[in-house]
Amino acid sequence: MDWETKLIHAGLDPDEHYGALSVPIYHASTYRQRSVEEPGRYEYGRSGNPTRNALEELIAGLEGGKYGFAFASGVAAIASVLCLLEAGQHVLACRDIYGGTYRLLTGLFPRFGITHSFVDATDTEAVASAIRPETKALFLETPSNPLLKITDLAACARLARERGLLTVVDNTFMTPYLQRPLELDCDAVVHSATKFLGGHSDVVAGLAVVTGRELAARLRFVQTAFGAVLGPQDSWLVMRGIRTLKVRMDAQQETAQKLAEWLSAHPLVGTVYYPGLPGHPGAKLHSTQSSGPGCVLSFTLSDGEAAKRFLHSVHLPVPAVSLGGVESILTYPATMSHAALPAVWRDELGVGDDLVRLSVGLESFADLKQGLDRALALSTA
Ligand SMILES: *Cc1c(COP(=O)(O)O)cnc(C)c1O
Repeated sequence: MDWETKLIHAGLDPDEHYGALSVPIYHASTYRQRSVEEPGRYEYGRSGNPTRNALEELIAGLEGGKYGFAFASGVAAIASVLCLLEAGQHVLACRDIYGGTYRLLTGLFPRFGITHSFVDATDTEAVASAIRPETKALFLETPSNPLLKITDLAACARLARERGLLTVVDNTFMTPYLQRPLELDCDAVVHSATKFLGGHSDVVAGLAVVTGRELAARLRFVQTAFGAVLGPQDSWLVMRGIRTLKVRMDAQQETAQKLAEWLSAHPLVGTVYYPGLPGHPGAKLHSTQSSGPGCVLSFTLSDGEAAKRFLHSVHLPVPAVSLGGVESILTYPATMSHAALPAVWRDELGVGDDLVRLSVGLESFADLKQGLDRALALSTA
């Protein structure tokens, strides 16, 4: 099926009672058992719910995987996948990482004896030499957040396969519409479905997809044991969002490209980070593993004070945390999305006080350009 069709019809388990085309929301914590020896298909709401299962099948199909899992947030999905590791094992993660994942790796998992280190994953040789005997997982984001750096997924997956590591990719920025890491031989994909998949800034949700049966059984165990499952109402909202993923992303990406080009030529803007710009160092690699540059870009102003004045005066796009919604959002990584990273490290990465991240929504290019231009003019005051 083509993407247009798949997004509308995949994972749709027709309602056998009344034939509703929308998956019914099963608000049920428990199910009648016809036999006490053998449980029915559904037994208890934490281990299974028909609405949640429809979403899990939908995302598994879209990612080109076999088994999908829905969690209460993106961070819950990431934490649950990290729970596949054991004490004494080590996670090698990309340096340019989502703040919440950084918090999990540095603040929570060390309590249980799971260690970590960070590497510039855009350099495959650096990844190879950072692997330790106890390393069991490689955790990647590409394009990375917030600097949109590109990692070679196939090369990392090959390396990980040779060294017996699990490759986990946070595919939140791209969604399966633009990039499918499992098809490049990665083992697991995680999502903050709060972002593009949900798409309307009205739900917090997380997803994971794997292909291997044994890995799926282990993750199923964690999902039930740890219990950070997504509720049926929120599962339905994510499914509703996914139906329009292609049209939203096509339109948002087109505007993002135009804005990136316009900002690059703006006298008050420094560097623009966007894989759709020909000068982007990872643009060529990105185009071999994805079908588009996406809808998120970052740019710098002359300094931190200018960035703060800019964010104080802007009305459109809206200054807020998060991304991927129908409304364009401006985020200040230094104090918002990446506040969990140590200041020295932020400086080293280039996530400075002068950096602003823009998630492009569905407003018109003309209105967004005008709103940004006005606030840029006020940033010099
Ligand atoms: C938002 C985000 C997360 C965390 O997801 P939540 O739904 O907020 O828990 C993880 N990774 C990336 C890349 C994100 O943007």
